[in-house]
Amino acid sequence: MHRPRMTVTGARVRLTEAGWDTDLAYEVIAEPLRPLEDHEVLVRVEACGVCHRDLIDRAGRFPFQTYPITPGHEAAGVVVAVGAAVRAFAPGDRVATMHRDSCGECASCLAGETSLCERSAWVFGILADGGYATHVIAPERALFAVPRALPAAEAAVLHCTFGTAYRDLVTLGGLRAGERVLVTGANGGVGSAAVQIAARLGAEVVAVVRAESHAAALRALGASAVIVAADGRFSEGVGKIDLALDTVGAATFPAALRTLRVGGRIVVVGNILAERVALNLGYIITLGLRIIGGSGATAAEMERLLAMHREAPFAVQIDRVLPLSRADAAQRLVRAGGLRGRVVLSCSAEE
Ligand SMILES: [Zn+2]
Ligand SMILES: [Zn+2]
Repeated sequence: MHRPRMTVTGARVRLTEAGWDTDLAYEVIAEPLRPLEDHEVLVRVEACGVCHRDLIDRAGRFPFQTYPITPGHEAAGVVVAVGAAVRAFAPGDRVATMHRDSCGECASCLAGETSLCERSAWVFGILADGGYATHVIAPERALFAVPRALPAAEAAVLHCTFGTAYRDLVTLGGLRAGERVLVTGANGGVGSAAVQIAARLGAEVVAVVRAESHAAALRALGASAVIVAADGRFSEGVGKIDLALDTVGAATFPAALRTLRVGGRIVVVGNILAERVALNLGYIITLGLRIIGGSGATAAEMERLLAMHREAPFAVQIDRVLPLSRADAAQRLVRAGGLRGRVVLSCSAEE
């Protein structure tokens, strides 16, 4: 089949070395598009979220991080061209990226657990160029369909926030209506999404935060109770919890574990750091607790989440939108903290 050779005109951001001494580079590009492999899709990026994980990538915490690379795993945009074997998408379709692709053939993939694919090698921002760019090439299995009506900034961040929370609560956590759910780091991207999803599914939600200033907003999002605990000690007086979602890590995990009822479940997500916590194994054994690790959602989970979002829109919290050329400043803003929602890079925002 004859396909005309396209020239990609746009820009991309490059991470050239680990750390914060060198700014991310912003490069204007006008180069011929390499021929797409059979299962690849070329996407014109509209927006890309700046995630806390991008900072971990930049710091070089993953031993398999490659350089130079275009950061970003939260891109949303429009399909421009597809490889010969692509079936899921066609030019003009709206799509967004998941964290990585999946092979479709390993035991995890055959079980529908594509985000646990054992052979996935296309990891945006770490092993493959990501979404801090006007264009991204992605295997079709690393993309999910997004409705046209969704604002680009929302579409970009939905997978890593609401998708992750949905998978953790529903698929991994087995959340049922009427259960009591505890969410730590409830003001964060995954946390505030989890509060909304759990409340929507009929759970009684206990939100844990470090500062009182978040309490009113979390109640408005559906939390029945908000516990302010600056020191990570909050297990007293919470009452028995069926399912906990710990989005913080070592600072909150021990207390979150202590809140669980006999047979309770806790899903840990978020900070991929070299943190250690001490566990009393006897406590876990005698109470029959389940500790589960969570990460990004599958395309099927995104479809279910998007159906809920269509039915009654969730509050997707975006602190600000910056132009792609300000990617370095955007990462430094996220690093400084104190934001109310995500920072998103836009390919159409004013310079
Ligand atoms: Zn992310
Ligand atoms: Zn697989």
